[in-house]
Formats: sequence, structure tokens, C-alpha cells
Amino acid sequence: MIEKRQFYINGEWVAPLAPRDHDVIDPSTEEACAIISLGTSADVDVAVKAAKDALPAWRATPPAERIAYVERLLEVYKARQQEMAEAISLEMGAPIDLAFAAQAGAGISHITNCLTAAKSFEWLHPLGDGTPGAMIGYQPIGVVGLITPWNWPMNQVTLKVAPALVAGCTMVLKPSEEAPLSSMLFAEFVHEAGIPAGVFNLVNGDGMGVGTALSGHVDIEMISFTGSTRAGRAISKNAAETLKRVALELGGKGANLVFADADDAAVERGVKHMFNNSGQSCNAPSRMLVERAIYPQALEIAKKVAEETKVGNPREHGKHIGPVINKSQYDKIQGLIEKGIAEGATLLAGGPGLPEGVNRGYYVRPTVFADCTPDMSIMNEEIFGPVLSIMPFDTEEEAVKVANDTEYGLTNYAQTQDPERLRRMAMQLQAGMIELNGQSRGAGSPFGGIKASGRAREGGRWGIEEFCDVIAISGYAAE
Ligand code: NAD
Repeated sequence: MIEKRQFYINGEWVAPLAPRDHDVIDPSTEEACAIISLGTSADVDVAVKAAKDALPAWRATPPAERIAYVERLLEVYKARQQEMAEAISLEMGAPIDLAFAAQAGAGISHITNCLTAAKSFEWLHPLGDGTPGAMIGYQPIGVVGLITPWNWPMNQVTLKVAPALVAGCTMVLKPSEEAPLSSMLFAEFVHEAGIPAGVFNLVNGDGMGVGTALSGHVDIEMISFTGSTRAGRAISKNAAETLKRVALELGGKGANLVFADADDAAVERGVKHMFNNSGQSCNAPSRMLVERAIYPQALEIAKKVAEETKVGNPREHGKHIGPVINKSQYDKIQGLIEKGIAEGATLLAGGPGLPEGVNRGYYVRPTVFADCTPDMSIMNEEIFGPVLSIMPFDTEEEAVKVANDTEYGLTNYAQTQDPERLRRMAMQLQAGMIELNGQSRGAGSPFGGIKASGRAREGGRWGIEEFCDVIAISGYAAE
């Protein structure tokens, strides 16, 4: 059993002020694999004080030096990627190959992209022609609180920590209590990279305890949060009293519009994307809208792909999918599968219960529903499991209307070989990200949503700006 009860505060591992053990459950066995501590507001106070004390020196450190620290962090991260993959696979059940390449690998890409953006970032630049002496400056916002989820743990942590560091902020991270091991390993990387004491601090805890203490803390200037829309609302309310900036990356219910002229691989690609990470991605294309002319063929392909998707042990190599995170997610997914059947959708593949031959672990059968209608629960609620809902459409207008008619707006997708239609989709689909014909976002592009998906923009230049205050300077004396 791994025992990791300490927090990383002011450059060292310290015991919680009051002991409160918490089991980290391996979702593939349903058994505890590690013990951590859940902190309290008193632990948060100590960590925030460390961050506050470290702020003046860190914000005065020239950007080039801060960048050099993050470059060292990247080197350590790369050297220890395998350890990171093992921690992620254990705590949240991603199969080891996915955990290495995509999960741990995402951390490497985000830090790399952040460094690229940081090197060309203009911390001070003229407002523009005709305004002599007018300058725009970017100053670090101050001490920031970072709260992250379990589904892509390092993806989220690096999207926040790297830009906060280069911007000159100091920080307290509270990772998900479901998947804290990767973040504790990341804290070791920070330490090994020699980042000054107090700049980065980690306190484990749950949402009600440490999460609430952070979002309401008087010495924290900003909360950067990724997680559920429910928690995003609670954080916004709690943060209002202290008027801090709140950046929210929340849930999604992505639509994937497959037109009759889509390329041959479009349906297969969409189904596989949905099942990736056992369906536990905020940007999953969970609603597939298929033009009626190719609807029968699309259903055949979707059924075949689902039936060929293997579910298995996360410790084994391969392209299978692992379990979902925990019992409550498992139960929620089962409930929504039952609801899909009860509300009249056609069950094409998968369905309720454990996959064949499995008797422990939170494994879900790769499930596809056909003949869905926009009012069904499975077309509206974020399921966060390997469950795809498919519905036919007759016109482009109808498809766009259904795609946009959701409280969420994180990523929408369209598959068509008509360039005019691609251009229309790019401007008519409402979401923070529009991915066309299977092209994923370019390196350094902003990640974020609209509406109930939150309005943060993380990654690249936008990720750095988010941790800065924009300052209008006048009467500046140019050198
Ligand atoms: P969650 O909201 O339950 O928890 C996320 C984090 O917030 C955890 O660290 C948790 O302890 C903390 N938290 C919970 N309640 C809180 C509160 N009241 N105050 C402060 N902190 C609180 O979400 P989850 O189950 O860990 O993650 C899944 C959700 O995250 C999904 O809805 C998914 O779509 C979303 N997500 C969004 C993105 C994105 O970039 N938009 C990325 C990944 C995941």
C-alpha cells in the first residue's frame, strides 16, 4: 500500500495539521491502492501564506529565468514519464499505453507549448500607432488556487501550473482526491527542477474542505478550476465575496455532425474518439448526428466498432479501454443506460451490467444507442462513460440546431468533404472548439468552452494571459 499522507508546502513535505486518512481506490480492483490525507482550511492557510511570501521574489524574477525553471521542469517530467504513466494508470484506470502516450504525454505537450508561447510573449508592448507613450503591460495576478479533476489529471495540472509559473504567479494546487498520486509525483518534479520554495504548493483534500477554503480565501486572487459544472457554480458563488477571478473549464456534450459526403473513416473515428479514456473526456463527441442517406451504414459501423472495443486490465499493454473511475460514476452511467432504454432509444451495442467475463472493477460495456431524439436524457446529460448516442437528421439546419441546443458548448465536430459546408460549420456551431474532419487542435491553440462548459481559455498564449492582469500604461518613456 502506498502511503502519501504529506502535503508539499514551502519546498518540503509536511504532515497535515489534523490527520484525516483517505483511501485512493484502484478502479480496476475496487480496492485501496494508496492512502493520502484530506487537508483542512488550516492547511490551506499555511500553503497560501507560503505562496504569498514567495510572490514578491517570484514576480520580480525576469520572465527568461522563470522560463528556464519551467524548461528544467519539462526535462525532469520527460525523464520520469514512465513513473507518471504508472501513477495515472493506478489512480484512475487508464490502460498503461494510453496513460504513457496520451495522459502523461499531454503534460509534455502542454508544458512545451506553454514554453513556446512564453518565449514570444510580449510582457510590455505599445498600444499602437498614434498613441505615443501608451503601453500595455502584463503583470502576474498573484497567488492562484488551482483545482483539478481526475479524468486527465496531468493534462489539467500542466495546463495550469506551467502558464502560472511563467506568468510569475505563485500557487496552491488541490488535485482531485480520486486521483492525487500523479500530482504528488508532479510536486516531486517541481522540487527536482529547483523551483524556489513556496512558488508551488500542493494540499490534498476534497471539494467541500480544501476546495471551498481555496475558493473563498482572501489572499487568493484567482481560482483556475477544471471539473463539473456543478462544482464550477459552487466555486463561482463562494469566490464572489472576495471578487477573485474565476476561470472555469467544465463539462460538455459534444455533437459530431456526420454528413452524407463524409470521408469513409468518419463514423469509426467518431465512435473510437467517444470510447477513448472510457468516455471520460469533457470534449468527447457523445452525440453523433448522421445524415439520413448514410444512417443505416453508419449504424452498422458503429455497432461493429463498439463490439470490437475490448475492455480490460489497465496494467496490460494494448488499445483496450479500462474501467471508469469509481462506483458512483459506474452507477450513474448504468442509470443513464437504463434511462436510454426506458426512453425509447434503440440499444445497438453494449448495455447495462459488467462486460462478459468480468466480475470486479468498474468496467462498463462499450455502448451505442441509435434512433435517439433531442429530448432524451442520453442526448442532454454528460454521461462520462463509453456510451454514444446516435440520431439521424435530414437537413443541415436541423443538425446545427440540435448540435447547438444544449446547455454546454465545449467542442463540436463536423465531417464533410464540402469546403463551403466546412466554412459554415466553423461559424455556425456554437462551442469553444470546432474540430473538422478529425483534425485535432493545433499546438498552442486555446482550450475552453462557452455557456455551461465554462469560459476559460487554457493553453498557448491565452493560457498565460489568463494568469495576468492587463495593465494600461500611459506616459511611458521609451528607452
Ligand atoms: P468534480 O467537479 O467533482 O471535481 C473536480 C475538482 O473539484 C476536484 O478536485 C474536486 O475535489 C473539486 N471540487 C468539487 N466540488 C468542489 C467545490 N464545491 N468547491 C471547490 N472544489 C470542488 O469533477 P470530476 O468528477 O473530478 O471531473 C469530471 C468533470 O470534469 C466532468 O464534468 C468533465 O467534463 C469535467 N472536465 C472538464 C474539462 C474541461 O477542460 N472543460 C476537462 C476535464 C474534465
